[in-house]
Amino acid sequence: MKIVTDGIVIKEQNIKEMDKVVTVLTRDNGVVRAYASGAKNIKTAKSTATGLLTYSQFVFFKGRDRLVIDEAHAKEVFIGLRSDVEKLALAQYFCELAGAVVQEGERSEEQLRLILNSLFLLCRGTKPAEQIKAAFELRMMSVCGFMPNLICCAECAVYEHEAMSFFPGDGTLLCGDCAGITKAGRIVTGLGVTAAMRHCVYSDFDKLFAFTVSANALPTLSRCAEEYTLSKLERGFTTLDFYKQIKQ
Ligand SMILES: [Zn+2]
Repeated sequence: MKIVTDGIVIKEQNIKEMDKVVTVLTRDNGVVRAYASGAKNIKTAKSTATGLLTYSQFVFFKGRDRLVIDEAHAKEVFIGLRSDVEKLALAQYFCELAGAVVQEGERSEEQLRLILNSLFLLCRGTKPAEQIKAAFELRMMSVCGFMPNLICCAECAVYEHEAMSFFPGDGTLLCGDCAGITKAGRIVTGLGVTAAMRHCVYSDFDKLFAFTVSANALPTLSRCAEEYTLSKLERGFTTLDFYKQIKQ
């Protein structure tokens, strides 16, 4: 059986001299692992199209026990990421996170669009990388079934509060009155960061990245999105650790 779909390569593993196994986030089939024979021969189009962080059209052949890449044609190679170590490291974290939360066999149009748009923006460099990262994390978590509840204070249902706080452990908000003196696991998000987080989770997809956040508020937004992602998934990411090392 043949499957034709678009996707981005989120992981590459060499297995034999000329062969590799690639993990692809596809539009129609979620995250799949597929064999690419002869794909390490750098002279072939298939080799380019099955490279890490390449967006391609794939023709998969579904065999008895494995998926094999019959054909692959590159559509976008994100050349702007290849020459910038910091951007490349962040892009690899996006890949690892997508691989952890997107299921196999599910239509993943929004997840694919999210990673493609994030990578385009990273390449272009018109938005702070930390803002793209936070939006990517919160939106990817939300569309994969891990949406935080940012509608209002979880106790008294107030919508806005100067001293609103986010609790990354359970993904909820408490206003300054309800949070009281509790300090544990709390990040004070106030009006600006709370609004930015809501935008990342609830906005129309087309407007996802169309928000601004002050330079003062950006580190807090970044911390909320990252801590929520890691605590909800109960794991770390080696690519995230590497990105942080490079950034220092
Ligand atoms: Zn409250």
